Amino acid sequence: MILIVEDEVKIARFVQLELEHEGYEVRHIADGNEALQSALENDYELIVLDLMLPGLNGTELLRRLRRIKDTPVIILTARDRVIDKVEGLDIGANDYMTKPFAIEELLARIRVHLKRGKESGARLKHGKLVLDLAARTASYDGAEIELTKKEYDLLVYMLEHKGEIVSREQALEAVWGFDFYGNTNVVDVYVRYLRSKIDDVFDVKLLQTVRGAGYIIRE
Ligand code: CA
Repeated sequence: MILIVEDEVKIARFVQLELEHEGYEVRHIADGNEALQSALENDYELIVLDLMLPGLNGTELLRRLRRIKDTPVIILTARDRVIDKVEGLDIGANDYMTKPFAIEELLARIRVHLKRGKESGARLKHGKLVLDLAARTASYDGAEIELTKKEYDLLVYMLEHKGEIVSREQALEAVWGFDFYGNTNVVDVYVRYLRSKIDDVFDVKLLQTVRGAGYIIRE
């Protein structure tokens, strides 16, 4: 079951209908305190969380939830300043979307996070490439690949967005956060590192450049 925590009735109703149409079971709670209680008492597969809520705000709700549970949380909020996004991810949100949003994108991200939770031991796979997210190891066809923290984080982010073009700005925000904002060259540098450790060694074309747009790992 998916929990939607949202006090704007129209948005909640819209998301709920779309999710139910996709075959998910959905519960909607508008109040922050009530939602936290419910999230602690039930094992939701995923929570879509608004930040500005009556009772208890979403940030505080997430902070308290994370002391006890690692239920995947996607923040869905009207706030769109980078600092809010960084704060949300820092306190343990798994993803972040700003309103107005495309419902198809929300559905796609929900699928990614549900799939990730189901994969035993939280692994990401792409062909012969396997990432064990708990152990933070990577291997290709059984051969271990040694990656630095940022290389690893970038690869995880790219794999989580497999089939999508990831812009330099997106990658920068996701992996480096607020400090590096505006300096997107670092993404190109790390893509080169990853290519030298994976593409060159195993003779694959994992990280492809999309001219003028960013990078993609194709399905
Ligand atoms: Ca709200």
